Amino acid sequence: MLNGKIIELGRGKSTFMETVREILPEGGNLNMCLTCGACSSGCPATGMENMDPRKFLRMAALGMDEEILSTPWVWMCTMCQRCIYACPMKIDIPRLVYEVRAAWPRETRPKGIMGSCDMALKNESGSAMGTAPDDFAFVVDDILTECREAQPEFEDMEAPVDKEGAEFFLNQNSREPVTEPDELLPLWKILHLVGADWTYGSRGWAGENYCMFLADNQSWERLTRQSADKASELGCKVFLNTE
Ligand code: SF4
Ligand code: SF4
Repeated sequence: MLNGKIIELGRGKSTFMETVREILPEGGNLNMCLTCGACSSGCPATGMENMDPRKFLRMAALGMDEEILSTPWVWMCTMCQRCIYACPMKIDIPRLVYEVRAAWPRETRPKGIMGSCDMALKNESGSAMGTAPDDFAFVVDDILTECREAQPEFEDMEAPVDKEGAEFFLNQNSREPVTEPDELLPLWKILHLVGADWTYGSRGWAGENYCMFLADNQSWERLTRQSADKASELGCKVFLNTE
């Protein structure tokens, strides 16, 4: 099943790529490949699992559904979209990769990505590290206090959590407060120096979204909605996505 469409493979009715093409705006340009190789030359996943984006697209175009639906290469793709920028025809290969991922039964998808997605769903932060809202607020306060004391030029810098009416709602990769909390500071300093009125949210502050990489649409939406709802609740005007 692909976005409500039944894929009838091996019956001469539709190849996987044709089905994906039907659901994308302008068909994702998937049938416009010139086989130039520009996508593969800049792709960080080229050569992994004996695959590259041009080869993957050619196999899909040739109806080699069994091969493209089973290659672990789709999990090597970083979804960086570099291939789209390099491609003269703007072919949306990562979207095809995404739909192949979504066609894998959930329990067979890579355990690391699945575990991070599932962890994020278990806490209100949306953190793949499992960091609770209170722990995040504690770290933010601790790092801010330390910085204000050590660097007098930033003694009036703020790093608010749940500030009502702030203009910008900022999210944050949840690895930093856990493993490298000092890495929070550079962005705070920039926002301070430009006079931005911003806040984190106690709910949905975690910016990473492994459920997207897992191609789990429902969970991806749930985490995104959790952050967006918090931003709306605080009355923020702009969602600053740092991921
Ligand atoms: S989106 Fe995937 S296929 Fe495209 S360049 Fe990035 S890693 Fe390669
Ligand atoms: S860059 Fe575009 S046109 Fe060239 S091989 Fe890759 S997908 Fe085809």
